[in-house]
Amino acid sequence: MLNLVLFGPPGAGKGTQSAKLIEKYQLVHISTGDLFRMHISNDTELGKRVKQILADGLLVPDSITIDMLEEEVQKNPQAKGFIFDGFPRTVAQAEALDAFLEGKSEKINGVVQLDVNQDEIKHRIAERQKISGRADDDADKLLKRIDEYFSKTIHVLPYYEAQGKVTKVNGIGDIDEIFNNVCTAIDSL
Ligand code: AMP
Repeated sequence: MLNLVLFGPPGAGKGTQSAKLIEKYQLVHISTGDLFRMHISNDTELGKRVKQILADGLLVPDSITIDMLEEEVQKNPQAKGFIFDGFPRTVAQAEALDAFLEGKSEKINGVVQLDVNQDEIKHRIAERQKISGRADDDADKLLKRIDEYFSKTIHVLPYYEAQGKVTKVNGIGDIDEIFNNVCTAIDSL
């Protein structure tokens, strides 16, 4: 199995690169943000619980997120591997993922960090908001999400660095060029 974490702040291009990676490597893409949005639009019990949290740009509690993620992995027993997009976002999530995969005699093979500075993120999300209409792309919610990233999510990097798993890729520039660099990182795992 090839299990990858695509890591980066909101607006780093994780979704864009994931779409290209799935096609090339035939992996199952799991985006916890997409899953939460699906629950919200289907008005499920889980959707009702997390709707306000997403609207506020805050992180959903670990236990809820981890349960949903594990359930999604279990739904894909035939997968050749997974791309985890937007997960893990806390060290507790990263530890839970490691323990979960270990229970299946699997592991995270590599973490690709899309490196994008804050000015670029704000610019991209402002552009995305015009098309996506995502309420959490609003300026004040975005600041909250960036806050969550730099206060909680950033600590996930040293966790994986200590395991020697992180490759940093410049996330600014031409999408195909970034993709080539991401592929080079993956192919050298
Ligand atoms: P995203 O589409 O990845 O930017 O995620 C959108 C929102 O979903 C985030 O701002 C959080 O509210 C929630 N979310 C997504 N993934 C996670 C996660 N791994 N842990 C906690 N909350 C998450």
